[in-house]
Amino acid sequence: MTAGRLNGKIALVTGASRGIGFQLARQLAAEGAHVVAVARTVGGLEELDDLIRKAGGTSTLVPLDLTDMGGIDRLGAAIHQRWGRLDVLVANAGMLGVLSPIGHIEAKLFEKTLAVNVTSTWRLIRSVDPLLRASDAGRAIVVSSGAAHSARAFWGLYSATKAATEAIARSWASETENTALRINVVNPGATRTAMRALAMPGENPDSLPKPAEVAARILPLALADVTETGRLFDVRENRFLSYRAPE
Ligand code: NDP
Repeated sequence: MTAGRLNGKIALVTGASRGIGFQLARQLAAEGAHVVAVARTVGGLEELDDLIRKAGGTSTLVPLDLTDMGGIDRLGAAIHQRWGRLDVLVANAGMLGVLSPIGHIEAKLFEKTLAVNVTSTWRLIRSVDPLLRASDAGRAIVVSSGAAHSARAFWGLYSATKAATEAIARSWASETENTALRINVVNPGATRTAMRALAMPGENPDSLPKPAEVAARILPLALADVTETGRLFDVRENRFLSYRAPE
């Protein structure tokens, strides 16, 4: 394998079985990182592994349902045992839940969406925070959405989970400001994936950027030269946006 910008690094990617996470995992591996790929769908993970190997890279597949909080703890322990550190975390896995009037959301689905989008992200952060601090250039990328900053009708559940996730990521960034760890939130923008098709069934997918294109813009946030932390990176604009200062 030719020299990449992430040679020798360990990168953990959740939601690596398809969509944005799949492509980001491929691209991180192509840069030389060993990718720890997490998702439930074994077929998708195996397809990823095949592509990574063909390109001369390596990965470890972790079939895991992120609502299994004990599993997340064990994953952190396993990474600690094998490598003693983690260089890149991409907290990307997510679900839409349902687009529905607030009063019509089923309690079970509300709790599950919260568990996948928010609780598992917190649990993962808690599990790997010491490992990222053990890296000489730990990088965390937390995938959010424009929905975190809007309050559109029927998007309440998804928006709430993304707003909560961003708040957790930003607080974590403030706590670690004086360390080598750099943590940023990403808004990928509308992307041609299964989730987007579920949210916007009438839309022509060909009008949207492909996940590989979106992933290519996110990838630089994993590199050692990143100085920003606690910022929101907007993929469409290809730049960091400012959070509004508290009043
Ligand atoms: P996809 O639906 O294509 O992929 C979602 C990924 O999350 C899959 O790999 C899926 O794996 C994984 N996942 C979902 N639930 C679980 C679970 N319980 N346990 C483990 N893994 C799980 O979505 P996208 O690629 O579009 O989304 C990636 C991220 O980008 C999400 O956080 C999404 O909110 C965000 N985003 C996407 C936008 C878009 O337009 N596509 C716009 C803005 C934000 P599996 O099912 O195999 O478990």
